[in-house]
Amino acid sequence: MRIILLGPPGAGKGTHAGTISQLKNVPHVASGDLFRKHQQDQTELGVLAASFMSKGELVPDEVTISMVEQRLGEPDCGQGIILDGFPRTTEQAKALDIMLKEKDLRINHVIQLEVNEEEIVERLSGRFSCTDCGMGYHEKFSAPANKGICDKCKSTNFTRRSDDSPKTLRNRLSAYKEQTALILPYYSTKGCLKSIDGMAEMDIVFDEIKKMIDGD
Ligand code: AMP
Repeated sequence: MRIILLGPPGAGKGTHAGTISQLKNVPHVASGDLFRKHQQDQTELGVLAASFMSKGELVPDEVTISMVEQRLGEPDCGQGIILDGFPRTTEQAKALDIMLKEKDLRINHVIQLEVNEEEIVERLSGRFSCTDCGMGYHEKFSAPANKGICDKCKSTNFTRRSDDSPKTLRNRLSAYKEQTALILPYYSTKGCLKSIDGMAEMDIVFDEIKKMIDGD
């Protein structure tokens, strides 16, 4: 099973990709996470990517494609993948097709999560996570049961993604509208694009995704 989750930042791609990954036992490949790992490890690519990510701009196609290609070549990706955050440009979408075609593989589902801009700003400006275990929270929708204490690991250390700041978020939304949304017609022409109302409750959205991929 090979699935692409598309949608603006904050649409819920990461959350749903994680759940599908567990349900179907296939890896969740998120290009943003790959870049953040490179940054953490202070690799050359990590330093380069940081200069774009901190401004909310897309990392150039050439380096992004080669990083994802390397990840998709790892053995655990042989049986399937849930892609989150990649492709983000038509160039990346075409490169992905070529990578898969070389292995006689193809994408089964491209699922677009639709969320309006007002909701995105509300979702992203309130999100934070536990520094120690990574558990995700939201100030308004899912705060820890005891303020300042992680429900899962009891840590009192929390962090926010620096690119969720209002200015960077505006640039990320522009990048989505001006570059990423252009790939929707690419997949719609191929007949594999399906859209879901990402504004609905999380369980309802997930049920919809499940219906689409059941049987695979
Ligand atoms: P994300 O975690 O998916 O929100 O991505 C965080 C940031 O990483 C984005 O704002 C971009 O700067 C960069 N990024 C992630 N995936 C891609 C991609 N496929 N192409 C270009 N830049 C990307």
